[in-house]
Amino acid sequence: MPELPEVETIRRGLEPVRGRSIASATFGLPRLILGSKAGELTRQLRGQRIDDVLRRGKYLVLKLDRDILIVHLGMTGQLTHAPAKAVEDPRFLRTVTGMQKPLGVHPVDKHTHAILHLDDGSRVQFRDPRTFGKIIFIVGHEWEKNPRIRILGEEPLELKIPAFLKKHFPSNSRRPVKALLLDQSFVAGVGNIYADEALFASGIHPKTLVASLQVAETTRLLNAVKTVLKKGIRYQGTTFSDYRKPDGSSGDNYERLMVYGRGGRPCRSCGTPLVKIVVAQRGTVFCPRCQPLHTGKGRAKGSGKKHATLKTMDKVRRPSHN
Ligand SMILES: [Zn+2]
Repeated sequence: MPELPEVETIRRGLEPVRGRSIASATFGLPRLILGSKAGELTRQLRGQRIDDVLRRGKYLVLKLDRDILIVHLGMTGQLTHAPAKAVEDPRFLRTVTGMQKPLGVHPVDKHTHAILHLDDGSRVQFRDPRTFGKIIFIVGHEWEKNPRIRILGEEPLELKIPAFLKKHFPSNSRRPVKALLLDQSFVAGVGNIYADEALFASGIHPKTLVASLQVAETTRLLNAVKTVLKKGIRYQGTTFSDYRKPDGSSGDNYERLMVYGRGGRPCRSCGTPLVKIVVAQRGTVFCPRCQPLHTGKGRAKGSGKKHATLKTMDKVRRPSHN
């Protein structure tokens, strides 16, 4: 599933569409559309200029001159920009996160469910083989009030960690810390890959109870979240430009990941075999030596600063889908 770095990479790839107008639009799978109907949406979008391409968590936001079009990629969604005279190539490459990306401009096929034809002859295509994606149309510009967007937590790359923790850290939560990282109402955009990577980078066992975390650990964890996300954004670019094997069969995919997808293989730091377990209903890989599970008893009294208890419950928003 695309997470923040993948969606951010796609957003950057869409920058050339800024300032272009939608000449026409076609939608092949009406059930992917929310906020309008396929035929109606075609009419609503016609002639609108794309003023900006934004990202919020795992959502891509096309800001049009009158309205908003939001895309969630679901499990396998791809949003690409095909320049007018681009040579089509039906092949895919597998990226560092295991996600498939078109090698060049992918031709329209049976999985292409939406096409925006732009005024310069180029097109924006939404392709989604497993069809868990969503296209959300919002009349006007108040997209941040949309129920799916409103519940999102802060953008992890913009976090001011001490202030964020004071305001939003659920210090009484009995959930495992991995579940908290996956909760889009805590921070937006982290999924399974980057949660596992951040936990490894900060030496925290994925089953550690949120309530038992000390301020220093949580700070380390959120700094690690930022680091692995930034690294993900950077590698996505590297994968695009340097990859030379179009069949995607190369074992290089996971070269840069420390734990995700590496269960049973040796820890890159200490050599101990990595262990795969299930936490928060998700496959989770960690190193039992680098990420020991501390229980309350195992901790020396007063060994670290505890989180202050939140005074109000208003920050504990309802969890959203990943
Ligand atoms: Zn290790």
